[in-house]
Amino acid sequence: MPLPKVTLRRGARARVLRGHPWVFSGELEDMPAGAAPGDAVDLLDTLGGFVGRGFLTPSCALALRILTRDPQDPLDAAFFSRRIGESVRRRARDLPDEQALRLVAGEADGLPGLVVDRYAEHLVVQASTAGMERSLPQIVDALKATVPGAASVLARHDIPIRAREGLVQEVRQLHGATPKEIGVTLAGIRVLVEPWTGHKTGFYLDQRDHLRWLAGRCEGRRILDVFCYVGAWAVAAAKEGAREVLGVDSSGPALARARRHAEMNGVSCRFIEANAFDWLRDTSDRAERFDGIVLDPPPFAKSKEDVPAAMRAYKELNLRALKMLGPGGWLYTVSCSQRVGLEELTACLREAAADAGRSARILAATGQSADHPVLLEAPETAYLKGLLLEVA
Ligand code: SAH
Repeated sequence: MPLPKVTLRRGARARVLRGHPWVFSGELEDMPAGAAPGDAVDLLDTLGGFVGRGFLTPSCALALRILTRDPQDPLDAAFFSRRIGESVRRRARDLPDEQALRLVAGEADGLPGLVVDRYAEHLVVQASTAGMERSLPQIVDALKATVPGAASVLARHDIPIRAREGLVQEVRQLHGATPKEIGVTLAGIRVLVEPWTGHKTGFYLDQRDHLRWLAGRCEGRRILDVFCYVGAWAVAAAKEGAREVLGVDSSGPALARARRHAEMNGVSCRFIEANAFDWLRDTSDRAERFDGIVLDPPPFAKSKEDVPAAMRAYKELNLRALKMLGPGGWLYTVSCSQRVGLEELTACLREAAADAGRSARILAATGQSADHPVLLEAPETAYLKGLLLEVA
């Protein structure tokens, strides 16, 4: 049966025809009568030519996500099996030894609205659109068929973005039995991931690759991990031979887990429960010194309106951190605000360094770990930006 059709307005033509998978409601001429969230539709251009096929959410500003540009490709079980299989094979090729990694990263893997993370033999999925929600049975079947040894699949559907799509907030077992804790080794440290309750799908996998930077930068030094969550950076720094490691976070449960991680890895770290802004202000005023600082805060800018306040927050944090570094000290500073680009983060650090009276060189600029690829045509998929600086 032919699918309902929607027509692309002229204004959106260039971006969408160049491969961006998102179409906003204002970019569509019409909505098919009776269209329901999650319906598959064909997108046509003004001359009636086929542009792509995707899932519609008529009530959303981001109304359509394109999944295929092949008119012969129905969005059925075979489609999901093929796309998921391709993504799983790319990860096996590029990251063959990782026990904890993102197997499907939405847009960049040709499946906008779907994330699948793997922790050892357990999988965690996040469907953020109505279309992906409807396709979950096909997605679970495809995962069982394409991920060797997949013992369980859990849906971490307690993410605010689902509310916009009219979807329920829930954490639901889709296959097998997912344990409360899954032990994995990543970047040389042992951690217990909490798939049912942890942030994201249980862990911040997007920083995994960068933890390796700590090698050769911690030996005999005093390291600070601000916004440390469950202590991945702190524990990795201690493992790299740091003389003293301090982790700061406002979440008591995250710090309890961080202490457990230090113990499991046979290292000693000190974790402090505090508001990072207050703690950094007080500590930098006391002229404390560190040799290396990790600053990995939560996203401050979720919308365009938040950006000015977010930039002030980034500047304040970075200014304080730079003041506490001795000559030759390093700062790894991160923004995971999708609205703040690398240029903006770099400019912010330039201002913070000027105010702190410091000069610094950029040793590296990064994005997400390799298993969170960015779709070139959709710059919005690059959300994580990091700078590794060395202070003169
Ligand atoms: N660096 C971590 C991820 C950090 S996530 C990693 O790579 O694993 C952000 C953390 O900031 C969360 O643990 C959250 O509890 C903490 N947080 C949020 N606001 C805070 C504040 N004002 N002060 C201190 N910690 C805060």
